[in-house]
Amino acid sequence: MGKPTGFMEIKRQTSMELPPEERIQNFNEFHVPLHTDEQQAQGARCMDCGVPFCQSGMLLGGMFSGCPLNNLIPEWNDLVYQGKWDLAVHRLIATNRYPEFTSRVCPALCEAACTCGMATGDPVTVKENERAIVEYGYESGAIHAVPPPARTGKTVAVIGAGPAGLSVADLLNKRGHKVTIYEREDRPGGLLMYGIPNMKLEKWVIDRRMKILQDEGIEFVMNADVGGNVSAEELQAKYDAVVLCCGAKQARDITAPGRDAQGIYFAVDYLTSVTRSLLDSDFADGKAVSAAGKKVLVIGGGD
Ligand SMILES: Cc1cc2nc3c(=O)[nH]c(=O)nc-3n(C[C@H](O)[C@H](O)[C@H](O)COP(=O)(O)OP(=O)(O)OC[C@H]3O[C@@H](n4cnc5c(N)ncnc54)[C@H](O)[C@@H]3O)c2cc1C
Ligand code: SF4
Repeated sequence: MGKPTGFMEIKRQTSMELPPEERIQNFNEFHVPLHTDEQQAQGARCMDCGVPFCQSGMLLGGMFSGCPLNNLIPEWNDLVYQGKWDLAVHRLIATNRYPEFTSRVCPALCEAACTCGMATGDPVTVKENERAIVEYGYESGAIHAVPPPARTGKTVAVIGAGPAGLSVADLLNKRGHKVTIYEREDRPGGLLMYGIPNMKLEKWVIDRRMKILQDEGIEFVMNADVGGNVSAEELQAKYDAVVLCCGAKQARDITAPGRDAQGIYFAVDYLTSVTRSLLDSDFADGKAVSAAGKKVLVIGGGD
């Protein structure tokens, strides 16, 4: 614990949000991160709790409390405060394969569980500390491709390039198995790519990680619909093991009068069409479902 009185002296400060008038000009992320010295001060607010609820990752009453990855949060908060960024990267990636994704899209159960939040009303900025660490890791070169030193001779096919498939592939590759990912879509990432909009997760963040995975020896086969244009039997014969990481694409439909009318879309189909058209052609291809000039009713208040 770098600064025992930090939580009493320093107010919680988070990134700035661009004004809505500016945000609607594009689809980009709209949080402007703190400066390094401001972020370091936020690290000082961590109380290094004897029982750090932030990293507990426990099921309480059927719901998760604290970080499900058991990230070593008090350790890296302190290292952020001390400006020991390389060590902070080391401690962050000890438990988290893809902190550049979680620090952007995770709902931050750590902050909801943070003792400092209970004591002062304002939890430690764990999520933005994480983002500052991982972005430092990329900028400094501390995060880079590290291919396994030896190969086991075993081969694995992973079906699905969402976060589950990418994590499985990464861990198996690190153990020296030869991993090939088969993905139905034209880009990897699963719902990270075609569900979560750019304003939360810009897609170059995914591309940056994919380059590392490829440099570490993972192969990607895109537009490969296993059970469709790629046969499951063929994969079973070719690989020592097959891992299914296919996600849960099926939307929950409703049966209501008028359901068959035009202009009704499932959210993920809508989001996919917008992101794909944006990435492919900056909307020039006209393939995005457009709601311009329409009144829109959204059913469902989740993400
Ligand atoms: C709109 C939206 C917003 C979200 N926002 C957040 C958020 O902010 N924070 C958060 O933590 N979570 C969020 N989530 C949830 C998160 O995206 C999912 O929990 C996560 O992506 C699940 O990962 P997965 O790898 O299991 O599945 P998916 O991401 O669905 O990936 C599965 C992959 O398998 C591929 N696949 C399936 N079948 C086959 C086949 N037969 N052959 C080849 N490939 C196949 C699919 O094309 C897909 O790419 C959001 C979800 C949605 C829909
Ligand atoms: S619960 Fe909050 S104050 Fe305590 S160690 Fe975790 S981040 Fe720091």
